[in-house]
Amino acid sequence: MFQKPKGTVDILPSETVLWHEMEEIIRDSAKNAGFSEIRIPTFENAGVYRRGVGTTTDIVQKEMFTLNADDAEMCLRPEGTAGVVRSVVENGLYNEAMPLKLYYIGPFFRYEKPQAGRSREFYQFGVEMFGADSAYADASVISLADDVLRRVKVKTKLNINSIGCPKCRPVYRKALVDYFEGHRDELCDTCKERLSTNPLRILDCKSPICSAIAEKSPKTIDYLCEDCKTHFSDLKSSLDTLGIDYTVNPKIVRGLDYYVRTVFEFISDDIGAQSTVCGGGRYDGLVEQLDGPALSGIGFGMGLTRLALARKLLAEKNEAEYPSLPTPKLYIAPMGKDCALYALKTTEELRRRGIYAECDVASRSLKAQMKYADKIGALYVLVVGDNELESGTALLKNMRDKDDRREVSLNEIADIIERI
Ligand code: ATP
Ligand code: MG
Repeated sequence: MFQKPKGTVDILPSETVLWHEMEEIIRDSAKNAGFSEIRIPTFENAGVYRRGVGTTTDIVQKEMFTLNADDAEMCLRPEGTAGVVRSVVENGLYNEAMPLKLYYIGPFFRYEKPQAGRSREFYQFGVEMFGADSAYADASVISLADDVLRRVKVKTKLNINSIGCPKCRPVYRKALVDYFEGHRDELCDTCKERLSTNPLRILDCKSPICSAIAEKSPKTIDYLCEDCKTHFSDLKSSLDTLGIDYTVNPKIVRGLDYYVRTVFEFISDDIGAQSTVCGGGRYDGLVEQLDGPALSGIGFGMGLTRLALARKLLAEKNEAEYPSLPTPKLYIAPMGKDCALYALKTTEELRRRGIYAECDVASRSLKAQMKYADKIGALYVLVVGDNELESGTALLKNMRDKDDRREVSLNEIADIIERI
């Protein structure tokens, strides 16, 4: 017997009902905010991520699933932004009305050590807004994430930070390197290397010793240039105006190289150690980095696999409901061949009217059919035998109310079921 690959999940029908609910909420919230869906390949030239995400990031250094196809090195997409930017550049979408607002939902792949909330294939909802520089764009993108999280009923806390821009970062970088040089011997091997390649990454290191050292390190917000300072204070006042609670958390730097200024994370207290359900930020240089024009960008990636986990745990604690599979409004139990044709025809008619109906398609005994109707939670049951077919009437039984039984005309059953 085959088993699914390590770090993947089967999302079964009892769970896809929740996924449908989440996806409907996402599509509705995204539409109301003017975002259009983009669907891009699930694999790209590995260079898209090397150049787009950064060669010193965990994603590129440790987590890429690479494939050898044709003569180019391909890679299963580990995140959404670099591929969307590649598509914007390749298709010249930068010529459209600005800001350009795109969203996506789909699977992403990272070669990680599987654990609760961390898998090798996971789903993300992501948005990207191009061509809007002001902090109001950042606030509206954050507001969209906030709206979706609230509608999905997962409680989160928003952390924001500003990591400056290419103008103020060199000064900060120097202060950071000076600080960590003083602790060089205590840092993990990867961070020792990061000290010369990408010192900002040390702040994101998951090792307890490195994070304890990072705790007292210089903060990006103390090194912002005037423009970055204004941008950050505009963001804060926009969030205040929108009534979105946040904490300024200087430790948030995000695991991708392309961010400038705003970075943010939504954290849930309900799902254990892997608690970030959504992360994002501003990436003003990325489009140029991937051979496009100078075009600013801001976006986020929301981990739907973690959101689904949060909702499941909340339902187990009775703090949120879990959606259930739809139940048929009518089950028709035919006895014999002619009756089976009546059942089939009537069931199809109801389905075409948008009503979920079922009938026997396995030629089972009446007893087995009634057991099945009960199991799938049918609201009404209509038993049709030769006598009923001849008289043109049958008894419609309400399965939730034993006293509700009525004689109905077989010709009018679709109308009756539609009305009740
Ligand atoms: P983490 O710090 O948890 O590794 P990250 O910084 O690598 O997160 P992002 O690249 O920002 O994550 O991805 C956005 C969101 O996608 C995360 O906040 C998380 O909800 C989800 N996510 C990332 N990696 C995984 C994974 N391996 N399994 C499940 N969800 C994931
Ligand atoms: Mg990660």
